Amino acid sequence: MTCLPQRVSITEVGLRDGLQIEPRILSTEEKLALACALIDAGHTSLEVTSFVSPTRVPQLADAAELLAALRRVRKAELKALVPNRRGAERAIAAEVDTVVLVLSATDTHGMRNLNRTTRDSLAGLGEIAAMTPAGTRIDVSLSVAFGCPFEGDVPVGAVIDLADRFQQLGIGRVSFCDTTGMATPRQVQGLAHTLRDNLPELDAAFHFHNTRGLGLVCVMTALQEGIERFESSVGGLGGCPFAPNAAGNVCTEDMVHMLHEMGIETGLDLPRLLDAARLAEQLVGHPLDGQVLKAGPRLRSHADQG
Ligand code: ZN
Repeated sequence: MTCLPQRVSITEVGLRDGLQIEPRILSTEEKLALACALIDAGHTSLEVTSFVSPTRVPQLADAAELLAALRRVRKAELKALVPNRRGAERAIAAEVDTVVLVLSATDTHGMRNLNRTTRDSLAGLGEIAAMTPAGTRIDVSLSVAFGCPFEGDVPVGAVIDLADRFQQLGIGRVSFCDTTGMATPRQVQGLAHTLRDNLPELDAAFHFHNTRGLGLVCVMTALQEGIERFESSVGGLGGCPFAPNAAGNVCTEDMVHMLHEMGIETGLDLPRLLDAARLAEQLVGHPLDGQVLKAGPRLRSHADQG
């Protein structure tokens, strides 16, 4: 394992990708408590909310309030997803650190999810880049980058072309999202390899869902291909909009447990992450998918449990 990265960085997305599909709507105070627990566990980058229509996603209707409250008590890079120019205006007014514009890699998913084609989203990205103040970052999250529930496989060439356009617009950080858990290790290898060959300057993060049980396998494959940034959810919060009972995002503490056992640094404290996952379970009111939360770290002694 000599060629694996020594350190990876993780953006926690549970407050956005996870809470957006939970039936119980958390109060701003409850989200704040969870965000603080995550930051206290060492997170320095969190996607905390989304500036989407509050009628469409009532779970995240308090986006501006949460950002303001969190900024008062903790310091971390706070990111918010935006679907369009209106969302970007609201996010900028709320003084978010990083606007994350979401685009779909396929037109069918883009029309269903964002009501616009990939080409229209790209034009919107140019407008948003032009209106964003100098102190605010813009990242892109590319949905269905590893497969589309409507169009099937998404060619690597199409994903690379889009990433190239983002770079031309001055966007240096791109998250490649496996929105519905269709990624396989072979695909991950293909995309990571092609990115390295064609866009070596791009700062790529990979974002997997564990919908079909391949989440950590895909992380491992990406690590072997030199990817050093990942997005994940505390407790494995999240889901798949097209498979109601499916597992959620790759679970942060499970991934951190794996990385630490391989000697890879994350800057995160596993016991504190497990505390945050327990809090997340309490707040959503049902058990979460995290495996280390259930079983404990691999070297935990049974004597510790009294
Ligand atoms: Zn996701």
